[in-house]
Amino acid sequence: MKFNKQKSPQAEKEFGGTLGATCIPVFLPLTVLYLLCVCRSPVASVLQWPPVLPPTAQLWDPLAPVLILGWMALQSFFYLLPMGKVSEGMVLKDGSRLKYPINGFHALCITAVLLTLSLWLGMPLGYLFELLLPLAVCAIGVSFILSLYLYICSFWAPHHALAQGGNTGNPLYDFFMGRELNPRIGSFDLKYFCELRPGLIGWVVINFGMLMKEVELRDSASLAMILVNSFQLLYVADALWNEEAVLTTMDIVHDGFGFMLVFGDLAWVPFTYSLQAAFLVVHPQSLSLLGATAIVTLNGAGYYIFRKSNSQKNQFRRDPTHPSVANLETIATATGKRLLVSGWWGLVRHPNYLGDLLMALAWSLPCGFNHLLPYFYVVYFTVLLIHREARDERHCRAKYGLAWDSYCRRVPYRIFPYIY
Ligand code: NDP
Repeated sequence: MKFNKQKSPQAEKEFGGTLGATCIPVFLPLTVLYLLCVCRSPVASVLQWPPVLPPTAQLWDPLAPVLILGWMALQSFFYLLPMGKVSEGMVLKDGSRLKYPINGFHALCITAVLLTLSLWLGMPLGYLFELLLPLAVCAIGVSFILSLYLYICSFWAPHHALAQGGNTGNPLYDFFMGRELNPRIGSFDLKYFCELRPGLIGWVVINFGMLMKEVELRDSASLAMILVNSFQLLYVADALWNEEAVLTTMDIVHDGFGFMLVFGDLAWVPFTYSLQAAFLVVHPQSLSLLGATAIVTLNGAGYYIFRKSNSQKNQFRRDPTHPSVANLETIATATGKRLLVSGWWGLVRHPNYLGDLLMALAWSLPCGFNHLLPYFYVVYFTVLLIHREARDERHCRAKYGLAWDSYCRRVPYRIFPYIY
């Protein structure tokens, strides 16, 4: 294959352009380490000055790279096992469609069996709490190495395999955004694998490790810890159960595979999404039955909105004649695709984000109201989804033109009805 330096002519820079692409890979890894340090400090204040800094010895443990690489290898092995069906992705620029194994839920179940077995054999899973910082350092290191590998390899990819946004010719920006859309080693799809496997399953394993640490320290798991573990396990199990839906998301269809996604998948998700569980190890919270019921209801409502709206759109995109969506009101677009203007997608333009944010709040509430840190996820996620919504709007306006404008007039609110 020949060396490909071609640029995308009309690529418009996102995430603050070159400045953003230079600063974010420095700032976000430091944020992960900082949050982990704050989380285990007695005060757990994100606003503490001078900031909590770990002694260098706490950042490294020779076990950490073994665990991270072993974990990646184990999940890759599950990915390659001939389990589950094989599905086709969206049509690519050259008219072809890639094949993807839909066996993420199988991987989660096998991981759960292995975890139970290792507990039974006496493996001290609670030790993950002590290892959090070194594990995060290694995951960040792996993210940089993998992104560099992807950036270099992308120069041998054919032009039609490059993403729209990540080949501007600026090395820092392209390294960050990712040049190639679907980098593969043989049939092993690196982006699809990283999206839902090592980081997402790793997140619930870390959570479980925090629960076991709590059992070690206080002889039983608290209600708050059980709620956080259960809610987040439901979220991860749901994502893997509906794994096929990831094939139509912006990450897979539009974005290149560069540092932004690699770091997000491998380091940011497992180590910042598990902050609530890690926080509860050091800062136990008591929760009344009434409080717990209210939180469970909030999570249930969020999950319902999130699941129903995502399923409605996926069903509509896969088969608009299916009885569950055939009666919904739609508007035509010049591309031949239609847009839903009733049902969940007639309530707000991103009902799935609304449900996701309600769940995010329910995950933080078990940690009480005395600290900001457990609410980091809600705040960050609100910013992420507002930014993501704006990116998606831009793509949809470019794709659907006037039809998108009339959808916006019909459904004026973006995420929160009557608010935003
Ligand atoms: P969405 O699932 O919201 O998909 C957006 C796409 O849906 C648009 O580009 C358009 O694509 C299609 N669409 C938009 N409006 C309509 C309509 N009215 N009728 C029909 N199709 C429409 O994108 P995301 O990938 O952002 O989100 C997927 C899920 O993942 C969400 O639930 C989100 O909350 C979650 N998420 C979670 C994250 C986490 O870290 N926990 C991070 C990011 C997302 P087209 O028309 O081309 O089909």
